[in-house]
Amino acid sequence: MIGNVSVGARMRPGSALFLTLLLACITGQTAASAADCLGHPDALGTSRILVVDPKAHPRIGTMQYPETLPLEDHEVVLTFDDGPLPRNSNQVLDILASQCVKATFFTIGRMAQSYPEGVRKLRDAGHSIGTHTQDHPLTMDHMPVERAKQEIDDGIASVKAALGDDAALTPFFRVPGLLRADGVEDYLASQGIQIWSADFLADDWRHISSSRVLDLAIKRLEDKGKGILLLHDIQARTVAALPKILHELKARGYRIVHVVPATPERPATPTEPIQWQLHPPSENVAISHWPKIPNFVFSGDQTLPAHTLPDLDWREAQSMTLAELLDHGRGIGVPLPREAPWPRQFSLPPDRPASELPVPAQSIFEVEEGLRVALRVAAPPHHAEQTVADHEERSIERGKSRRASRGKPHTGRARQVASHGTGHPAQAHGGKLKHLVQVRKRSA
Ligand SMILES: [Zn+2]
Repeated sequence: MIGNVSVGARMRPGSALFLTLLLACITGQTAASAADCLGHPDALGTSRILVVDPKAHPRIGTMQYPETLPLEDHEVVLTFDDGPLPRNSNQVLDILASQCVKATFFTIGRMAQSYPEGVRKLRDAGHSIGTHTQDHPLTMDHMPVERAKQEIDDGIASVKAALGDDAALTPFFRVPGLLRADGVEDYLASQGIQIWSADFLADDWRHISSSRVLDLAIKRLEDKGKGILLLHDIQARTVAALPKILHELKARGYRIVHVVPATPERPATPTEPIQWQLHPPSENVAISHWPKIPNFVFSGDQTLPAHTLPDLDWREAQSMTLAELLDHGRGIGVPLPREAPWPRQFSLPPDRPASELPVPAQSIFEVEEGLRVALRVAAPPHHAEQTVADHEERSIERGKSRRASRGKPHTGRARQVASHGTGHPAQAHGGKLKHLVQVRKRSA
């Protein structure tokens, strides 16, 4: 029964919580409310069951993917990896049971082979059971995809064998070390298996105190407001921290959500696509559609070296969390622009020098043949000019003698063609404006 599920002002017709409760009434699914917790009336409890369709949302967890579970504010999903290891996993089960909290366990095939009873305890307690490969290799990001498939398939087979009931296993999977690869994701999607990354961690695999695990879990949850928390049920420090984590969640008004896969008899919880984003845009969040970021296309393949988690020994690193590493690494590997395509560099033509004069029309230099044109260059005379001048002089002398012999003016004329701006040495000489002159005869 739904019982005394804490339903405050947040529940309103149309809200996800309202729809979930409505669906629960229809399908008979129930969450273990705090009031149902025998002997623990103040337990945290499980506020609702979220039914998801792995095929519709194959990758979740904002540490690595755009989508995450469609949780409302202050809703938390607890996940535990790497078990079962009876010494610690059984204590985790007891703590969760004491608070009537349901979680999702990502079990390792080899552990299930060694402790099959531990996997059956998870099922009997009503938790969701996913898988986490057969041997937990921290090389899934670069191993051959065929080997990755084998790890995935063997892990599933081992856990199913321990359960003795295929239906008890969910199609949920978490990549060891979150070291994802395209080929691995493609294969899991083809199998209808949902990949769970996480929204935040508590670093409980590191050599830190249980109080530090508690602090990190709460601090990071408070930063996000909701989400999937990744823990490890095989760690003693997690066992020590878990009661305090659950207590803090309760004290701070957080609610636990239990996630189960959709089946033909159990349809997925109705959701809108926007709910699968951790921070969906709202009227309180400024969204700018202008100016658009240019769609740069770079031909270069220069990239910055990307950190890899194994390089940084993420299990031992003290200064940077996995979440921070992943956030940090998101922008790495992008080709660098060699040069900005905008603004363009324009090469303007140099201004025309003010001293340059317009080119005179040829007619200005048309003179009657026979007129003496003073074209002599002061000094030193250029060979060409000298040649022209000599020729001119000889022509004039010939004209004189012809006029004298004929007694009438000559009809021919000399055309002088000016040449400008050639940089001829003669032009730069003496401060006078001089022109090279071509003289040719033209018959009338
Ligand atoms: Zn693991």
